Amino acid sequence: MPLELVTIPCLADNYAFLVHNADTGETLLVDAPDAPPIQAALDAQGWTLTDILLTHHHWDHVDGLPPLRGSARVIGAKADAHRLPRLDLAVSEGDSVTICGENAAVFDVSGHTMNHIAVHFPTSALLFSADSLMALGCGRLFEGTPAQMWDSMQKLRALPDDTRLCSGHEYTETNARFALTIEPDNAQLISRIQTITKTRAAGLPTVPSDLGVEKYTNPFLRADHAALQSAMGLTGTEPADVFAAIRKKRDVF
Ligand code: ZN
Ligand code: FE
Repeated sequence: MPLELVTIPCLADNYAFLVHNADTGETLLVDAPDAPPIQAALDAQGWTLTDILLTHHHWDHVDGLPPLRGSARVIGAKADAHRLPRLDLAVSEGDSVTICGENAAVFDVSGHTMNHIAVHFPTSALLFSADSLMALGCGRLFEGTPAQMWDSMQKLRALPDDTRLCSGHEYTETNARFALTIEPDNAQLISRIQTITKTRAAGLPTVPSDLGVEKYTNPFLRADHAALQSAMGLTGTEPADVFAAIRKKRDVF
C-alpha cells in the first residue's frame, strides 16, 4: 500500500505534512511550523508520530517541534546539526534511510539555506522539498548562491514526472503571476494558472503539485530551456546565470 499523505496548513502560509504507513502504523511529520494544527491532524487520524523530518533550520519549520517530538526519531542534516534541534538521526546527501517502512533518499538542496535537505520516497512518489523547489517557484536565496540553487533544482528535476512535490509554503498564486511575466506565451503555464486560481478561490492548497507539470511551467526549472532563454533575451547564456537573473527579478516582484 502506498504511504498516505496529509497536508496541514500552519501559520500564515506554511505547510507541514504527515506521511503514514497503514500496515506498520508508522507516521512521519515533515517540518514543524506550529504544534496545534499538527496535533489536531494527528488526533483526527488517530496517528502517533514515529519520525519527524526537519528540512532546514528556519524558525517556521522547527519552532513547533518541542511539544510534538515525544519519542519520535528526529531526522535532519548532519551538516546543520549545530543549528537544528537535537537530532536522533543526522543525514547527508546520498543517504538512503528507511522511514515509515519505505526507502527514502536524501538530497542536499542548498540555496535557500546551506544544508537544506529534500527527501524523496520513490515507491510512493513523494518529494519533500520545503523551501528549495516550490510550486511554480523556489525559495529565496538567503545563504547560498544562484549556482548552488540551480544545482539543487537540477537534482530534483531529474526525479520522475509522477512525483508529488510537497513544498513548504502557499506562494503559488504570486509565483504564477511572476512566472507569466517570464514566459507569457507558455501555454501549459497559462492553463495551470487557471487551475490554481480556481483552487485558491475554493480555499484549497495548491500543494502538493505534480513534478512533471513543474518541469514545463516552473521558470526556476527552465533556466537551460531555449523557450525560456529566448523569452528573457538570454539565448545561449550559462543556465546558472539565467537562473540568477530569474531569481533576481522574483526578489523585486
Ligand atoms: Zn525557510
Ligand atoms: Fe519557510
